[in-house]
Amino acid sequence: MNDQSGPFVPRRRDLIVVRAAGDRGPPLIDAFQRRISYLRLSVTDRCDLRCAYCMPEQMQFLPKAEVLTLEELYELATGFIARGVTKLRITGGEPLVRRDIMDLFTALGRRLGHDLHELTLTTNGTQLARHAEGLARAGVQRVNVSLDTLDPARFAALTRRDVLPQVLEGIAAAKEAGLKVKLNAVALKGYADELPDLIAWAHGQGHDVTLIEVMPLGDVEEERLDQYLPLDAVRRDLEKRFTLRDIAFSTGGPARYVEVAETGGRLGFITPHTGNFCSGCNRLRVTATGQLYPCLGGGERIDLRAALRSDDPERNVALAINEALAIKPEKHHFRMDARGAAPAVARHMSSTGG
Ligand code: SAM
Ligand code: SF4
Repeated sequence: MNDQSGPFVPRRRDLIVVRAAGDRGPPLIDAFQRRISYLRLSVTDRCDLRCAYCMPEQMQFLPKAEVLTLEELYELATGFIARGVTKLRITGGEPLVRRDIMDLFTALGRRLGHDLHELTLTTNGTQLARHAEGLARAGVQRVNVSLDTLDPARFAALTRRDVLPQVLEGIAAAKEAGLKVKLNAVALKGYADELPDLIAWAHGQGHDVTLIEVMPLGDVEEERLDQYLPLDAVRRDLEKRFTLRDIAFSTGGPARYVEVAETGGRLGFITPHTGNFCSGCNRLRVTATGQLYPCLGGGERIDLRAALRSDDPERNVALAINEALAIKPEKHHFRMDARGAAPAVARHMSSTGG
């Protein structure tokens, strides 16, 4: 970065060269005829929290030199946009701990209304209070904030950092800035008793909630089976307090939604174990080091960083993306039935980009 906004930030809207989808190759359709329109781009594997289901306290982070520059991340993102990606989610690790990250949001936001339809992010909320307005200014309209509990002691135990007030402040700032907030909560043994109150609170604030089944990604300190709570059981419990009505609402992701009659709010269920959703998969994931994982639950990987740093990056990135489409598996192979089993996938959610 050699100036305030970064060298890759087009200074004037009319300087943006918008390519039609297909300019850098054919549309993104995989071997199972799934159309890919959604990219989840990780900008860092680092994080200021240590959620017990995501990573160990002593997490080994990547050397910074391995991580793509903001310019490279922008270049990659625009390569995907030129192939028909219309929705881009910035994630991590914690995206808002990356220095100068707002430059990337600003630059990508300038493509909204042209070839990009939605720019969004997933965040733990700790840095949201200071970035909410900037995100809204960049064109972000919706933000997913991860929040598993409203109890300060439980939050501190689960995330290993005592910062719940900071996160709540971030959520309030996002709402104030006009961002539509959705809360993500991982369903966990020992925390389910609080879910009805968490849902009622969120809906009272005007936020949708999505519950997620924990996935066996990377080694953590606890046994996965001691964390795992199937969402079909959670739903049955929630029905003791709430009236849930299935609705057709979708944000284009794997969540299946219900409306909660008592709150009028929406509740989503992401069920990799109790309800496979892979046939509708529309996404690819790229890590902060430029590794493209066609499936969160698979080992298939394509090195986009090498393509990006080659002597013909445009062509080689396009070819690498084609290869990723060809090897995108039909479905994930997560299993959650064996105690002491090695994780299904060795890499953590925070390094693939959750
Ligand atoms: N740090 C940001 C956050 O927490 O929102 C973005 C990255 S985080 C890896 C993205 C999402 O993945 C969060 O909602 C988190 O709860 C979820 N997650 C992390 N590890 C998980 C796991 N093993 N199984 C299921 N969800 C997980
Ligand atoms: Fe950090 Fe998000 Fe993982 Fe929690 S879930 S440790 S906030 S990356």
